[in-house]
Amino acid sequence: MKQNLPGKLIIVSAPSGAGKTTLCDAMVRHFDNLVYSISYTTRAPRHDEKEGEDYFFISEHEFKKHIKNNNWAEWAKVHDHYYGTHASFISENLSVGRDILLDIDVQGAKQIIQRYPDSTTIFIMPPSLDVLRIRLESRGTDSKEVIDKRLENAKQEIDKKGLYQHIIVNDDLENAINELITIIHEKNI
Ligand code: 5GP
Repeated sequence: MKQNLPGKLIIVSAPSGAGKTTLCDAMVRHFDNLVYSISYTTRAPRHDEKEGEDYFFISEHEFKKHIKNNNWAEWAKVHDHYYGTHASFISENLSVGRDILLDIDVQGAKQIIQRYPDSTTIFIMPPSLDVLRIRLESRGTDSKEVIDKRLENAKQEIDKKGLYQHIIVNDDLENAINELITIIHEKNI
């Protein structure tokens, strides 16, 4: 069965607040063979985030050591913090035929596509920038400065959505989930 086949990569990018985490959680629940790639970051955990579940939180010193040792499958600086995907996690899972869902930004997506050209790429759009601002504000976790920065970054990311094979507008969660399932199914996952 599946187990002997090399796994596949699904890259999902979206501006912060576009609903990506909810969508990714739904995919991992839906597809038995799909694992979520937990990223490493140098940013501080938010009050509801858990080490090893949402992220591995590491120091900038550690992060840079991994850059030096070539341990990242991809890495990027996003909103002033470093984020990276561990290369061995990717290669180990793919080699045993597991599919991997990567929730990474546009810079990281470009690096993964270069390394793994067969990756499926999906961009999640918020319904509008106004909705995005409301979602970021209602999260209550970030200061106005941080939110402004994230919105500025969102505009830049949305400008690059042409890089992706699929674009989903998350104006209705149920619809967005179904669209994602269909895309991932098409890859025989
Ligand atoms: P947040 O701080 O809101 O969790 O994530 C900020 C941004 O960093 C999001 O766009 C998210 O997709 C991106 N991100 C999270 N993990 C990684 C990663 O491992 N690599 C890259 N390149 N981006 C990441």
